[in-house]
Amino acid sequence: MTALAKLDVAALRKDFPILGRPVRGRPLVYLDNAATTQKPQCVLDAILDYYRNDNANIHRGVHELSERATEAYEGARERLRRFLNAAHAREIIFVRGATEGINLVAQSWGRLAVGPGDEIILSHLEHHSNIVPWQMLRDQRGAVLRVIPVLDNGELDLAAYERMLGPRTKIVAITHVSNALGTITPVRRIIQLARDWGAAVLVDGAQAAAHLPIDVRALDCDFYVLSGHKVYGPTGIGVLYGKQERLEAMPPYQGGGDMIESVSFERTTFNTLPYKFEAGTPHIAGAIGLRAAVDYLEQVGLEPVAAHEHELLDYATQALGQVPGLRILGTAREKAAVISFTLNGVHPHDVGTILDQQGIAVRTGHHCAQPVMERFGVAATTRASFALYNTREEIDALVAGLDKVRRIFER
Ligand code: PMP
Repeated sequence: MTALAKLDVAALRKDFPILGRPVRGRPLVYLDNAATTQKPQCVLDAILDYYRNDNANIHRGVHELSERATEAYEGARERLRRFLNAAHAREIIFVRGATEGINLVAQSWGRLAVGPGDEIILSHLEHHSNIVPWQMLRDQRGAVLRVIPVLDNGELDLAAYERMLGPRTKIVAITHVSNALGTITPVRRIIQLARDWGAAVLVDGAQAAAHLPIDVRALDCDFYVLSGHKVYGPTGIGVLYGKQERLEAMPPYQGGGDMIESVSFERTTFNTLPYKFEAGTPHIAGAIGLRAAVDYLEQVGLEPVAAHEHELLDYATQALGQVPGLRILGTAREKAAVISFTLNGVHPHDVGTILDQQGIAVRTGHHCAQPVMERFGVAATTRASFALYNTREEIDALVAGLDKVRRIFER
């Protein structure tokens, strides 16, 4: 990391009011960023400012506030287009989050494109949100699910993937970064290989968007989903990117206001992109908050953020590696700032509870990724995940907290 790229983390921490709040009488050590990130003041301000000054429903109004709200909402769409480097703002669909984006594709694109005997390829790393929608589609359409195996270090078995592809492959739905192990998957290569068979590719970017610069055109994916709350934005808002020609060919996912052109009891005609997929009043304040979040993230700089998080990951891997009885799951060469581990003889829930008493927030459980837990022979792990505002001192606090856990269980 160059001196220039170094983040001023102490200054950045001041942007996040919650980080100054004590928890259980201790300074908060927030290491649950893969579940959700904290929000900077500018995101909180953007949401409050919208409700205070511009609140109105969008698109249909002729009055001043409605025009301002519409402009802010559509401005957010354009900002997200730029964040993902999509070709057109109409390729950016606002959804509730990654989960809704995947369900939309599975039900709208999938029911049209996937028939009996057709194949859907997933990986063993997937979050339940990128498994269950495809199982539902499989059951509706008589399709077949195929699963790319995971190697012992948490990387995907690409050779097995290549063998799995074929003329029946209709879609490959793959995570960009594993929430359970931190593996960064070789999505570019996965997409290229799928192209040889004419298969569509959906990338689940829920864990990637806060950590890696994303360029959907360079990736050449058909669909990309992300959740606002994992990129320092609000909950309840996310993005589905879809290539225009794919989205044009897809039927609406939900019916209602905004997605129509005209309605009679005999027949409804649908609105154009992106509105065709945005039925009902959308999360206007959420889109505005998400815009502020990506402004913030890009202003800090995704590359220095990635470098800082990588440094934390290396430091934590080294420090946790010294803890007796601790086993790290997932040692892929390309990893985002997630460390899943088990501690000999202690249930992860006990680890999490004792850490919480010290003001340290980690996640414990199966992380909505039961198949990969099973692959590694565990029911649950403890997971520490880092963001731009985390520090080495917080990792030291985690290690000291784990020492305490061990002392309690050795008694
Ligand atoms: N995919 C991955 C890899 C995730 O980590 C998550 C959230 N944990 C999701 C999908 C689902 O995101 P959301 O709950 O925001 O829809």
